[in-house]
Amino acid sequence: MLALRKTQPAPGLVLTDVPEPSPAPGEVLVAVEAAGICGTDVHIADWTAGYESMTAGMPVTIGHEFAGRIAALGEGALGVSVGQLVTVRPSTVCGRCAACTAGDPDACTGRRGIGIGRDGAFTRLVRVPALNCVAVPPSLDPELAAMTEPLSVSLHAVDLAQVRAGQRVLVLGPGPIGLGIAMFAAAAGAEVVLAGHGDTTRLAVARMLGPILALDLAGTDLPTTLAAHGQDEPFHAVIEAAGVTSAVQDGLLRLRKGGTFVVAGIHARPAPIDLTRLVRMEQTIHGAYRAPIADWSRVLAFMARHAETVRCMITHRLPLKDALAGIELSHKREAGKVILLP
Ligand SMILES: [Zn+2]
Ligand SMILES: [Zn+2]
Repeated sequence: MLALRKTQPAPGLVLTDVPEPSPAPGEVLVAVEAAGICGTDVHIADWTAGYESMTAGMPVTIGHEFAGRIAALGEGALGVSVGQLVTVRPSTVCGRCAACTAGDPDACTGRRGIGIGRDGAFTRLVRVPALNCVAVPPSLDPELAAMTEPLSVSLHAVDLAQVRAGQRVLVLGPGPIGLGIAMFAAAAGAEVVLAGHGDTTRLAVARMLGPILALDLAGTDLPTTLAAHGQDEPFHAVIEAAGVTSAVQDGLLRLRKGGTFVVAGIHARPAPIDLTRLVRMEQTIHGAYRAPIADWSRVLAFMARHAETVRCMITHRLPLKDALAGIELSHKREAGKVILLP
């Protein structure tokens, strides 16, 4: 079967034939119906800093945002049935570390990511632990279900920013995670400003996701653009999902006293921060990475209520054979979410 793989610790991905997998005990085989391309996949393709730990697992099929039907059950796989539509939590736990044996898998120190440390979903069949499968409500189709993982990251970032109705929230970066953050913050009743840099397509998508003021900073800068739109007041929360180091200090300067700055972007280098100003302003910086398990059902319930709104985020649907073109679309930031249909 065709698979999009990372084969060496250098830039590039390879579309190649691999044997069909069979599920180990406790695992199931999922026939992938939709798989989203993530910023992480673009980073893996470019081989930017921060992904070196993948080397041990290479060659590895990438793709960690997906939904599909259970095609086969391994020995002792519980809680799922053949033919069921599921989406899959990509982070697998070891079952052996102190946190796992204490019943706190969220804190597992031996995690391996499906599509990062073990074979993922940019192919037709993927084996995953049965425990990682999350049932999809009947009203949702595979392409929406495949968005559960990135949207759980967005929702988690909004939770950490403690966004409430009536607050002003600035979101930096209109990639799929930033779009989800803007959508959830607007749904929570916040006044949302989303800023991008030459991201025409993505900013247009943002305007379909709710009452979001989507601003393009191309040829100008954040303070000038905010002032031009009457947005001089500082924000209760600033959420960064751009992975652009300069956006961190820019964003902090727009945050009000006592406000929360959430970093959800992956940064290739350290960011300079004016800590004395942070101290005097009594601000909080919070990292947001992986959502707790409970957020998955909240995202699925939200999508069931707002299916057609969420679907606006999907700008491209491509067959697996065009996966490299999909990676390139995401790379050039010309797409909202790109979905591969294996
Ligand atoms: Zn992702
Ligand atoms: Zn563990």
